[in-house]
Amino acid sequence: MTKIAVIGLGIMGLPMAKNLVTAGHDVTGFNRSRGKIDALVEAGGKGADSVADAVREAEVIITMLPDSPDVEAVVSGEEGVFANASAGALWIDASTIRPDVAAALAEQAREAGLRPLDAPVSGGEAGAISGALSIMIGGETADVEAVDEVLQGVGKTIVHVGPSGSGQTVKAANQLIVAANIQAVSEAVVFLEAYGVDTTAALKVLGGGLAGSKVLEQKGQKLLDRDFAPGFRLELHHKDMGIVTSAAREAGVTIPLGSLVAQQVGATVARGDGGLDHSGLFTLVEALSTR
Ligand code: NAD
Repeated sequence: MTKIAVIGLGIMGLPMAKNLVTAGHDVTGFNRSRGKIDALVEAGGKGADSVADAVREAEVIITMLPDSPDVEAVVSGEEGVFANASAGALWIDASTIRPDVAAALAEQAREAGLRPLDAPVSGGEAGAISGALSIMIGGETADVEAVDEVLQGVGKTIVHVGPSGSGQTVKAANQLIVAANIQAVSEAVVFLEAYGVDTTAALKVLGGGLAGSKVLEQKGQKLLDRDFAPGFRLELHHKDMGIVTSAAREAGVTIPLGSLVAQQVGATVARGDGGLDHSGLFTLVEALSTR
């Protein structure tokens, strides 16, 4: 049993924390809004009144927050993780943030006596609930090995991809692939509907061939039903497209498809649909068609 603190009990953090409780760990949660903490307590976890309170006795600290500034705010300052965690504690940032920020925060964490890992996840809310996330980890090998048992409670595919920051680089690539895939599937669905094809039958046969993908499998029927309840909010994917386009530019890598899809995601958010699931990218594809 490991003493674990989870900061950020949102769509992903709460089910991850619940799975850690189920795996037999001693889990204390903190979130900005109290209701999420109550939900963890109901599931057998403990609630904290502040970040400092949550992390003080933890052996492993997991942050699952929206964006780079949120993670910076939670780890810094007198009330933050770095100032209050026990020496030698492992800090796993599972949020999706900028790779350069992740690397800089890892450096600061080490100076504060902590053992940092960037460990963003893929698999969505469904993966968080079922404990089947794909977890891409940047950091020291010994630290990755030290958190393996804990991460087994929330993930299925857990891979050490390199030094601090590299988990976030891999996640940025993940977000590029997923957004481009949603865009392609959305365009295919609008196209099929325009020709009056039986779209359910079409998605079935497409899924059995090379066009098949997790996006098609998990989002295809939802597109047909116009069910865009999140899931992963489009505004968060907008943040991630900003991360991958700027990281690619800094590396001198040209990503024309990624840049185009980033514009599509941004335009969908600008239309007021940032609160939809990222499959809501479909709404712009449909709006740009004449049907
Ligand atoms: P969310 O907005 O549902 O959850 C974030 C939680 O953090 C909220 O409950 C919020 O109240 C809390 N929070 C924000 N600032 C805080 C602070 N200063 N102190 C304490 N709590 C604070 O977001 P989410 O969908 O759970 O995503 C979290 C991260 O995981 C994001 O970086 C996202 O990109 C990534 N992610 C999400 C999904 C998904 O399908 N939702 C999948 C993979 C990765």
